[in-house]
Amino acid sequence: MTTLTDAGLTDPALTASVPVVSHPLVDARAQLREAVDLLGYDDGVYAMLASPRREVTVSIPLRRDDGAIELFVGHRVQHNFSRGPAKGGLRYSPDVTLDEVRALAMWMTWKCALLDVPYGGAKGGVCIDPRQYSAAELERVTRRYTSEISPLIGPERDIPAPDIGTDEQTMAWMMDTFSVSRGHTVLGVTTGKPISLGGSLGRTTATSRGVVHVALAALHDRGIDASRATAAVQGFGKVGRYAARFLAEAGVRVVAVSDQYGAVTNDRGIDVPALESYVDTTGSVVGFAGAAEMSGAALLEADVDLLVPAAVEGVIHEENAPRIRARVIVEGANGPTTPEADAVLEAAGCLVVPDILANAGGVIVSYFEWVQANQAYWWSADEVEARLATRMRDAWTRVNVHAASLGVPLRRAATALAVEAVAQAHFQRGLYP
Ligand code: NAD
Repeated sequence: MTTLTDAGLTDPALTASVPVVSHPLVDARAQLREAVDLLGYDDGVYAMLASPRREVTVSIPLRRDDGAIELFVGHRVQHNFSRGPAKGGLRYSPDVTLDEVRALAMWMTWKCALLDVPYGGAKGGVCIDPRQYSAAELERVTRRYTSEISPLIGPERDIPAPDIGTDEQTMAWMMDTFSVSRGHTVLGVTTGKPISLGGSLGRTTATSRGVVHVALAALHDRGIDASRATAAVQGFGKVGRYAARFLAEAGVRVVAVSDQYGAVTNDRGIDVPALESYVDTTGSVVGFAGAAEMSGAALLEADVDLLVPAAVEGVIHEENAPRIRARVIVEGANGPTTPEADAVLEAAGCLVVPDILANAGGVIVSYFEWVQANQAYWWSADEVEARLATRMRDAWTRVNVHAASLGVPLRRAATALAVEAVAQAHFQRGLYP
């Protein structure tokens, strides 16, 4: 197993507190190493792609509503620009670390390359628990963070989007702060914005739509009829909630759902719209009358056809992987499965559809939003949905065919396709100076 020291990790807070098994940067670099070896590239190429091109850490002082001052740390990591501007989400979570942001930025590079979206990868994070702060406080944090990273972002440089703990309102504040500094409205600086501010129809649900497009294809590939299939979904936020909804609409019986507070289960199938209304009122799935309580750990090990992890990294690891019974795992979250768990699941015959393919719907429609904003010309919802479906299904087929031809799992095939596209861009551009 790769150790923290081998991986060259530098964040002391993280290395002190988090077990190696759930370390996303170790996992991301192990996946890159496999792809580089498969492609026959040398160590120089690995070194170039294992490290971000540019990263910045900023202090964000906040004046709280009661007048007290608090200080937060924020990061923006731009992993690669060889195929276009950097692109990636902004995360607000108390668990954010620089190394986590580096891993997420690297995965964004591969995702954009795999889906042939003309971007490199980036990611941002602020180490804050947004649930503990008022909307006015979050607005001040967002505006100060945006102002600090403003020289690095822009429609041609780096385009943030929502991720864990942020939403369309966050993107509206970022766009406004950036625009004020430039003296004119720059709609293309963020994606995932409200529709009234240049957001794209279909962006809110795009990641989940994409997850379900590939989930249905993967079930079909395994000879599982969707109308007889069962599913468990970890996470009931922007990705998990709509994934559960669209799976249910496709006839899949969603028998278990969780969030960070707990999990609920119903063998006959959870009434997803009723659960959505309940969560809108209470803020959690816990206590939903239409289902029984279960533990979050048990949800991952439920006897289902399909498991959709749609929460955080490293939740499927070498310790629980032998107990996972799902026949298909479709990664709504980024980095939910460690390389050690991948090996266990592969040996057990479980099909794992990797994050860089499965959850790419979000960045695809973010790309559509950027194209629309830059042209100030808006597409219909049907146009967006049709183009999204075509791209997701084509990518699924391409990765599947490549995996079969190489005799490797989907993740290795997908990462190799992506790394090859990025490396080719590097080779063709040449090394400056
Ligand atoms: P979100 O903040 O909207 O929702 C996160 C959900 O996960 C919440 O329901 C939260 O309670 C739950 N959660 C957190 N920790 C958990 C745990 N240990 N067990 C169970 N549930 C837990 O975030 P999101 O935008 O839905 O993002 C979820 C994942 O999907 C992240 O990995 C993110 O990077 C990835 N992703 C998001 C998008 C997007 O468009 N939002 C696109 C691609 C990938």
